[in-house]
Amino acid sequence: MRIILTGPPGAGKGTQAQSLSSKLQLPHISTGDLFRSHIAEGTDLGRRAKTFLDAGELVPDEVTIGMVVERLAADDATAGFILDGFPRTVAQAVALDEFLAEQLIQINAVLDFSIADDAVVGRMLARGRADDTEDVIRRRLRVYHDETRPLLDYYSALLVSVDADGEVDEIYARAIGALSERVASTP
Ligand code: AMP
Repeated sequence: MRIILTGPPGAGKGTQAQSLSSKLQLPHISTGDLFRSHIAEGTDLGRRAKTFLDAGELVPDEVTIGMVVERLAADDATAGFILDGFPRTVAQAVALDEFLAEQLIQINAVLDFSIADDAVVGRMLARGRADDTEDVIRRRLRVYHDETRPLLDYYSALLVSVDADGEVDEIYARAIGALSERVASTP
């Protein structure tokens, strides 16, 4: 199964992706985590990405798409994957579709974790990551609304909404429910 998790920063996608990954035995591919490990390892890609992460801006598409395509080509991703934080722009979604079409595979479901902006600001401040200062959080939310929300239209045929306000276990149960609903309705 090939699943995309989308939603605003701080919606809890990463936590849910980890649980879904162990339940479904699929690799969890998080572009944010990939960038953070490149930065920690001091690679060229990490150096190029760092200023964007620090500012709460998106890393340019060509850098991001190249990194994801390389990751998706790895052996453990051939049977399926959970993409967390990618695609974040329509150009990324188009590039992903091209990659999938070449492999004759398709996305099965796009889970949209929906939650109000005010609810995620508090969550992110509590998380305390380096890019979780209030200014940067506001910037990331703006970028989400401008660049990433248009994907909801792009993926309308595959989209299932998950209410991301609540306790982690509750949201997980909703995500599993949404996924089975979506898979059951697939022709
Ligand atoms: P996340 O861990 O998903 O919140 O991502 C942290 C940061 O990594 C974002 O604020 C962006 O700077 C960068 N990033 C993650 N995924 C992408 C993506 N698909 N496209 C561009 N930048 C990304």
